[in-house]
Amino acid sequence: MVPQWIIEKKRDGHILSAEEIRFFINGFTQGSIPDYQMAAMAMAIYLKGMTPEETAILTDSMMRSGAMVDTSSIKLPLVDKHSTGGIGDKVSLILAPLAACAGLAVPMISGRGLGITGGTLDKLESIPGFNVNLTEKQFIETIHKCGFSMIGQTGEIAPADKKLYALRDVTGTVASIPLITASIMCKKMAEGIDSLVLDVKWGTGAFMKTIEDATTLAKSMVRVGKAMNKGMVALLTDMNQPLGRTAGNALEIIESMECLQGQHAGEDLMNITLALTAEMLVLGKKAENTVAALEILRGHIVSGAAFAKFKEMAVLHGADVSTLDDLSKLPKARIIKPYLAPSAGYLAKVDAESIGRAVLVLGGGRQKTDDRIDYGVGTSGLAKIGDKVEKGQPLVTVHANSEEKLATAMGYIEQAFGLTDTPVAPPKPIVDRITG
Ligand code: URA
Repeated sequence: MVPQWIIEKKRDGHILSAEEIRFFINGFTQGSIPDYQMAAMAMAIYLKGMTPEETAILTDSMMRSGAMVDTSSIKLPLVDKHSTGGIGDKVSLILAPLAACAGLAVPMISGRGLGITGGTLDKLESIPGFNVNLTEKQFIETIHKCGFSMIGQTGEIAPADKKLYALRDVTGTVASIPLITASIMCKKMAEGIDSLVLDVKWGTGAFMKTIEDATTLAKSMVRVGKAMNKGMVALLTDMNQPLGRTAGNALEIIESMECLQGQHAGEDLMNITLALTAEMLVLGKKAENTVAALEILRGHIVSGAAFAKFKEMAVLHGADVSTLDDLSKLPKARIIKPYLAPSAGYLAKVDAESIGRAVLVLGGGRQKTDDRIDYGVGTSGLAKIGDKVEKGQPLVTVHANSEEKLATAMGYIEQAFGLTDTPVAPPKPIVDRITG
C-alpha cells in the first residue's frame, strides 16, 4: 500500500478500508509513515470526516498500537467513566469510590489538566504522598483489594494516540469528531473494561461549546463503544458555569471529601455525580434501574462507606490519609480574598472559562508542560447561576500565593459574573442521555 494514495483517497472524500486504516496507524506507530504524512491524513479526516465504521476501525487500530491492561483476574463487572473535561470537574473522585462500594471494579486511568480544564491526577497529587504512577501489577492489586484505583496513562497504552495527539495539537486538527472519538475511546478501551459511562460536557468551559457538537461527539463515542461490544451510556452535562463550589486542586479534594460525607447533597456536582454512578451500576448489573441505583448510592454515603472507601484506596496509593480526616492539613494558599458582588441582583452568568483562566494564572494549572502545580491555589465558595445576591456579598473566594497572581486572577474573576434584576432559573445540570 502507498501512503500518499490513501491520503488522496480520504482527501477526495472516499471511505477508507479497514486494511488501509490499519496500515496507516501501524506504519505511523512504527515510524515507517512519517509525521508529515500522518499530519496530512489528520487534515483530510478533519475536512472530510469518517463514517462510524471507519471511526470504529481507527479506534481499534489505535488501541492495538500498544498494550491492553490485563483485567482478566478481576471477577467483578469492570465499569469506568470518562469526562470530556471542564472546570471544577471533580466527579471521578466521588464517583469511583461510590461505584466500588456498590460492587463494581473501576480501573480508572486519568489525565492531567489540559489548558484551563483540571485533571484528576493533579488533584490526587495534592494529597501528600499520593502516588498516581503505579505499575500495572500494583494497579490490578489495588483494584483487587479495594475495588478501584486511579492512575496516569502508562507509556505502553495507545502510543499511536500519544504521537497523533501531539501532531494534531500543532496542525489545527484537534477539533475533529472522528479524531477525538478515536483518541478518547482507544485509551478507555485499552483499560480492559466491560462498560463505560461518558460525561460529555458542553459550554464555555468545555471542549464542545454547543449542545449540538456535544451531542454529535457523544453519539460518535457511544457508537464506537457499542461496536466494540461495550455497554455504553452518555450524559450531556452543563459546563457553562464551573461544577460545584471549588476550582483548584486541594480545594477540589476538600469539596469531594465533603461530598463523600453527605454534604452538598442536591447541588449540581452531586446530581451529576450520582446520575453518572447510577448509570454505571445499571450497566454493571448492580441495580435494576437508576432509581434503585440512586438509593444504593445514597446509602453508601450516609453509612460512611464511601468516604472510608476513598481513604482505603488512598492508603494503597501511599497517601497520608490523616490529611483527609483533617482537611486543614492539605496544601493551603497564603492569601485568601473574597470577590464581592458589585450590586444586588440575580446571577445570570458565572462563566466557567473565566474562572478556569483565573485558576490557571494563580498556578493551579500549567502554562508550559513542565510547570509545577501550586496545589493550594484556586477558588472556593462559588455562587451559582440563579442565586439572589446582595451588594457586597462574596461571590467567590480566591486563594493565591502571590499578590501579583491574585491581581491577574481578579481580572478574570470580575469578567466571570453577570447580574440581572429579574429572577434567573438555574441551568439544567443534565441536558440529555444518549444510549445509541
Ligand atoms: N481528550 C483526548 O484524550 N483526546 C482528544 O482528542 C480530546 C480530548
